[in-house]
Amino acid sequence: LHRNPGEQEFHQAVHEVLETLGPVLVKHPEFVDSRIIQRICEPERQIIFRVPWQDDNGEIQINRAFRVEFNSALGPYKGGMRFHPSVYLGIIKFLGFEQIFKNALTGLPIGGGKGGSDFDPKGRSDSEIMRFCQSLMTELYRHLGEYTDVPAGDIGVSQREIGYLFGQYKRITNRYESGVLTGKGLGWGGSCARTEATGYGTVFFVQEMLKARGESLDGRKMVVSGSGNVAIYAIQKAQQLGAHVVACSDSSGILVDEEGLDLDRIRRIKEVERRRISDYADEKPHARYVQDGNVWRVPCDVALPCATQNELNGQDAKYLVENGCRAVAEGANMPTTPEGAQVFREAGIAYGPGKAANAGGVATSALEMQQNASRDSWSFEHTENRLEQIMANIHRDCFETAEAFGSPGNYVVGANIAAFLRVARAMEAQGLI
Ligand code: NDP
Repeated sequence: LHRNPGEQEFHQAVHEVLETLGPVLVKHPEFVDSRIIQRICEPERQIIFRVPWQDDNGEIQINRAFRVEFNSALGPYKGGMRFHPSVYLGIIKFLGFEQIFKNALTGLPIGGGKGGSDFDPKGRSDSEIMRFCQSLMTELYRHLGEYTDVPAGDIGVSQREIGYLFGQYKRITNRYESGVLTGKGLGWGGSCARTEATGYGTVFFVQEMLKARGESLDGRKMVVSGSGNVAIYAIQKAQQLGAHVVACSDSSGILVDEEGLDLDRIRRIKEVERRRISDYADEKPHARYVQDGNVWRVPCDVALPCATQNELNGQDAKYLVENGCRAVAEGANMPTTPEGAQVFREAGIAYGPGKAANAGGVATSALEMQQNASRDSWSFEHTENRLEQIMANIHRDCFETAEAFGSPGNYVVGANIAAFLRVARAMEAQGLI
């Protein structure tokens, strides 16, 4: 705590992992002797830099950007960039720390890192976004490389931003190094199914959790928070598998459509017109948009938090359980507070933590890196099949590890221990690093 004052989200993420590792340290005292825990909590490198840029009015703007290269025991640093005004070092470190374990769970050769900026893209023109991205990359490029550090998108960073970042990297380095960023467009080195991967993967994970209990998604009522990249494709896959999705949200309120959300309409509003989901209700009379509404009060069988950290607290978890919710899988990173997670644990519902349930995004990024390295491009169907297999493997790993370490059905314990063992063993093998 005293080494990282004020980094509340980072403390929360570390605490959530460490409180589950007791049984591993009893079984493996060598990890205590080699101080693996202390080493794993300290990033290998942290970069903080200034991003000056000019807005459309000719005013000079200054933002702060970060890249935390947390752990490279399993491969090059890998993790997204987040553009949001709430970004500070504590957020990026929490995300980077989570990323180490998530990436280990995928079984693919990727280390953990994360980055971002306190830049607020809302209301900015396309050329402002481009100038900001170019300025950011003018510093960041020196820390990146396909064997070193490979960023991707996150909140506020989608294919458009990745395009501007990639263009500037190429211009500065004079290298068409496809594998330096993931989340690229399909015509210039991107992978089929990457846009869909995090949302699809979260739904594949919840499907596995239900299967383990002899249940299925078909006909289940579902609520999804957020209406960004992860939420949209979680809704799409859930609908394809027969779920009835009745609500989603954004930072201003919630959208409820008991007839089932019309995803084409949402995608047009969000992805094409770049408007707000409140406009959906204006166009469809029986749907309602509730300003400042709480999406977790909408009764459902399955809930997918896909917006942001700490968006589902203890009281929200109680609403869900009381209304009969049977399964929760986190598309977002650390969306449930520790109190919320405790409510789920005590109620015995299936609860899939983000580092397992949303690992499909980074797994497909690693598949994009494989395609780039072999100058190949796979079909949508092939890539989606690999994603589905990876999610089933992660589920099995978490499930079996939880059992082996005395906490059957506890996916938090299973995910943390399975991932920790993979990283800790690699660190041990590589000496004092
Ligand atoms: P987007 O920027 O595409 O969407 C974020 C969505 O969450 C928006 O609808 C936003 O609404 C909403 N939101 C943000 N803050 C709040 C809040 N306080 N309350 C309610 N809604 C809010 O981001 P992504 O979909 O890419 O990311 C969502 C989450 O998933 C994040 O936690 C991210 O770290 C995680 N994730 C993303 C991956 C990816 O591949 N993109 C991979 C793994 C995890 P508004 O527009 O009003 O701000």
